[in-house]
Amino acid sequence: MSERLVGIDVGGTKMLAVAIDRSQPSEVLEMHLVPTPSTSDGVLSALRELSIRCGVDQRLGIGLAGLVEGGEVLRAAPNLQSMIDIPVRAAIEDALGVTVRIDNDATCALVAEMSTGVARGVDDVVLVALGTGIGGGIASGGEIRRGVHGFAGEPGHMCLDPNGPMCVCGRRGCWERYASGAGLVWLSQQRSLRVDGTGNAITAEELAERARSGETVALEVWAEFSEWLARGLANLADVLDPELIVIGGGLVAVSDLYLDRTRELVVSEVLGGRSRGRIRIEPAHSGPSAGAIGAALLN
Ligand SMILES: [Zn+2]
Repeated sequence: MSERLVGIDVGGTKMLAVAIDRSQPSEVLEMHLVPTPSTSDGVLSALRELSIRCGVDQRLGIGLAGLVEGGEVLRAAPNLQSMIDIPVRAAIEDALGVTVRIDNDATCALVAEMSTGVARGVDDVVLVALGTGIGGGIASGGEIRRGVHGFAGEPGHMCLDPNGPMCVCGRRGCWERYASGAGLVWLSQQRSLRVDGTGNAITAEELAERARSGETVALEVWAEFSEWLARGLANLADVLDPELIVIGGGLVAVSDLYLDRTRELVVSEVLGGRSRGRIRIEPAHSGPSAGAIGAALLN
C-alpha cells in the first residue's frame, strides 16, 4: 500500500523538501529547493509552503541543522541561529494539522543511508554532512547514537587549531572552518580568490567549475580542502573505528574533486591505517537529498 511521506531538510543556506513513498523510499517523487530565510517566521512559513507543495498528507519529518532537544526544539545551532528555542514541531502541527517529527539533519541523512542507501546492513557507520558547516550522525553496533541530551554527533566543532579562524560557535579553528562550504570560502579568501569583477566571496559551485576548467588556484583550494577533511575524518576514525564513513550534505555533489585524495590521506593519517582494511569512505547514495529523505523516514 502506498503512503506518501514528506521530509524537509533545513540547512544554514538551503531548505530541501522531498516527497517519497514509504514502500520505495529511495525514489524521490517530488523535490523543491529554496534558500533558507533569515528569520524564524520566514523559515516557519517556508516549512508550511514546502509541505503543501509536496502534498503532505498526515506525516511530516523535519531535519534541522543543530542540537535538537526531545524531538521538539533547537537548543544550539551556529548555522541556523534564528530557529533556536522556536517550538517548530508544535507550530507546524498546529498550522497544518499533521503529525510532525523533528531530528538533527545529519542524523536524518544517516537514517536514510542506513535504510536504503550505502550504509544498508552496516552496523558501525559515521555520516559527515558537508554543507554550510559540518553535521554528523553516528551509528555503533547498529544503533544510532544520540548521547544523553540527544546532542551527539557534532564533529564540525572539533577544534583542529586553537589559533585558527573564528568559528560561528565562538571558538577558533573548528573543523567546519576548513572542510565545509564556509570553509571553502575561507580557503579561497586565503588565496584572494573572488568572483571575477566583484568583491564577493566565491561559492562552492563556482570553485568546482573553475577547478574542472583547470584553474591552478581553484585546484589548490580543493587539494587543501581534502587535507582538512581527511584530518577530521581520521580523528573520527581514531575515536569510533567505523566500517564506513558516508559523506553527505550539499558538497557531496562535487565529491569527485576531493574524495579520492581524502581517502588516501585518511589511511595515511589514522592510527593503524594500513591495518584498518574495512574502513570505507563513500558518498551518500541519496547525495544531497539524504537529509530530506531521512527526515521523511522519521515517521
Ligand atoms: Zn565551532
